[in-house]
Amino acid sequence: MEAYLREIESLFTPSKEKLKELTGIFQKELEIGLVRRDGMLKALPTFVYNLPSGMESGKFLTVDLGGTNLRIGLVELFGSGRFTIKKDSVVIPETLKSGSGYGIFNFIAENIEKFLEHPEIETELPLKLGFTFSFPVQQESLAHGRILGWSKEIECNDVIGMDAVALLQVALHSRGLEIAVEALINDTVGTLLAQVYRDKKTKMSVILGTGSNAAYVEQCSHLTKEENESNKVVTVINIEWGSFGDGANFLPTTRFDALLDEESKNPGIQRFEKMISGMYLGEIFRLILLEAVENGLIRSTGWTISKPYGIKTKQMSNFHESYILGAVEECKSIANDKFGLFILDDDLKYVSRLCELISLRSCYLCAVGITAVHRHLLETSLISAKEMFSVALDGALYQRYPNYSKILQDLVCMMDGKEEEVCRIILVMAEDLSSIGAAAAIAAQK
Ligand code: ADP
Ligand code: MG
Repeated sequence: MEAYLREIESLFTPSKEKLKELTGIFQKELEIGLVRRDGMLKALPTFVYNLPSGMESGKFLTVDLGGTNLRIGLVELFGSGRFTIKKDSVVIPETLKSGSGYGIFNFIAENIEKFLEHPEIETELPLKLGFTFSFPVQQESLAHGRILGWSKEIECNDVIGMDAVALLQVALHSRGLEIAVEALINDTVGTLLAQVYRDKKTKMSVILGTGSNAAYVEQCSHLTKEENESNKVVTVINIEWGSFGDGANFLPTTRFDALLDEESKNPGIQRFEKMISGMYLGEIFRLILLEAVENGLIRSTGWTISKPYGIKTKQMSNFHESYILGAVEECKSIANDKFGLFILDDDLKYVSRLCELISLRSCYLCAVGITAVHRHLLETSLISAKEMFSVALDGALYQRYPNYSKILQDLVCMMDGKEEEVCRIILVMAEDLSSIGAAAAIAAQK
């Protein structure tokens, strides 16, 4: 087991040179994405031209449609970066995830109606609504965006090519609700705007949840592939960084990544995301354990280990955390109940080290993206070398994987490469804030 682990260790630990190379390529690809539509990084325009000053105020409805949950909120902004939110969340029924897309938009409108009837929600219509929609859209303005396709197991093909805002607007009107959908944003953009509302130094956001993506503040003059309103100075770019490396071979992928990609619903696509995010880390872990079982290094007690996606990142995270806390019995019971493995006491340290290696590589690659964006902004003078660079982070992987946030902070400082005492890149937890950003997006346009 020890020798096997040494091999995995070498596969999963990118060298300093590799990280430097990747950071350089990321920066170059980002700069290509800003001027061309066919780049590896889509660098999507968001049509957000006015960043929140923190002084915005007002009451707004917010809707966040993810892959699993529909979240509805009533947000009140008070200025000085202060806000309150009353929110509710419902699981999107499986039956709506395939079939007609109109069903999903009706479901949203129906739940907004229910939300507004709740005794705790004291408000009157008309209201403005900010829509967080974390699926690929080709935005045409802040309040218009054509659905390019679905992801995260949703497949409602009849509405592809249609405007997500118009679809929701029609569903709301058919229920007689006087609600105007005034902003359509991605969750990375929502997280960024929310944190800018609280702290103007914020320049970037990263999501580390089911998927992974990032957004940042860019100078309009650098974005030449779209028509810009000529009097605007800065905007927000949705990098869509999950596709970094697609169609090329510079990512430090292993045989396990190749296997995962082959068995996935979208082979060859989102290769960077597949090495980083919560949807996939548990599966990489499973594929390595399966190989160890096949080589006779670990004993399997059940079928979980041979079932694709049989191990969730959350379970891998719980196992790793239990090991760190010295809870040996807990580790063994997770291995037995969740992984279908019998692990000898002496081998626990190796399996825990596997978790560490997989999560560390995710941190390294995420740090590459953050460092590359920072460097791009430094070199194009959007920020100065002395300025602090605040990055807002959200998602269960970042929030809850043991030591993830601390390690990522250390790595970005290390890769920033300055021999100074003060690290200029500061990572800030922005837990569940994307609806605040959707409200701030509307309020800031005035
Ligand atoms: P979403 O991306 O849908 O907005 P989340 O931010 O909640 O949702 O992220 C969900 C992902 O995070 C899932 O892939 C899940 O396996 C993973 N996850 C959930 N809990 C944990 C945990 N304690 N540690 C690490 N990953 C977790
Ligand atoms: Mg989310």
